[in-house]
Amino acid sequence: MKFLKPIVVVLCFAACLAMQTSQSPHNYLCRHCGSLVTADHRPTTTGCPSASYHSWTDLGTFGNTIYQCRHCGTIIYNESSPSSSGCPSSSYHSWSKLGTFGSNAYQCRHCGSTIYCSSTPSSSGCTAASYHSWTKLGGASDKNYMCRHCGTIVHSSSTPSSSGCTASSYHSWTNLGNVGDQVYMCRHCGAVLYSESSPSSTGCPSSSYHSWTRIAKFGDNAYQCRHCGATVYASSTPSTTGCPSGSYHSWTKL
Ligand SMILES: [Zn+2]
Ligand SMILES: [Zn+2]
Ligand SMILES: [Zn+2]
Ligand SMILES: [Zn+2]
Ligand SMILES: [Zn+2]
Ligand SMILES: [Zn+2]
Repeated sequence: MKFLKPIVVVLCFAACLAMQTSQSPHNYLCRHCGSLVTADHRPTTTGCPSASYHSWTDLGTFGNTIYQCRHCGTIIYNESSPSSSGCPSSSYHSWSKLGTFGSNAYQCRHCGSTIYCSSTPSSSGCTAASYHSWTKLGGASDKNYMCRHCGTIVHSSSTPSSSGCTASSYHSWTNLGNVGDQVYMCRHCGAVLYSESSPSSTGCPSSSYHSWTRIAKFGDNAYQCRHCGATVYASSTPSTTGCPSGSYHSWTKL
């Protein structure tokens, strides 16, 4: 896989997959656990953290238009308006179009949603208030920044804006290092990072320090742990070490 200088690793993955296979990947959402997976095939039903089986709905083709459901809060990058069926929080999804994919990170100070958009996103469809109130956190996305209060992870080239934290008066950002193709996970806060090398241990929202385990190399298969619910894109089955919810991760290939 040609690994482009990552803007957002998972989005990059889907774009790479689209270029590679010349058939566009689709966005699948489980109506039980709310997991969103971008893949070129329907994911397996085993390993749902919230029910006996995942129940996947095909929401449509991956693309560069950003939609959010005002009921379940799901954010997807889709080619056109997503299917309304299979909402985990209501009878039907109610999608709002927020904008077009771009390298600027925006976050809503009410619901905490973070999206990568070319210009200020639409204010409609907030799950926590009448309107989204967007703060531009940063642009050109080559480093992982994490807020020690709310746990938001943002890809940015410089320290993101401190305003708009949902858990405290201000975001308190830690530079965790360069975005890259190694997958790390913290056993305390459960954060998943795509990093060039071992991330900084400073600024864990759940403990004095992050405790990172390198669990995989980035790749085009989606894996989900049935204990902690984490979904990672990896080249082969991730390591079982360091699950925040059990002794070991138990990975299912989706
Ligand atoms: Zn599920
Ligand atoms: Zn929904
Ligand atoms: Zn909002
Ligand atoms: Zn914050
Ligand atoms: Zn942590
Ligand atoms: Zn786990």
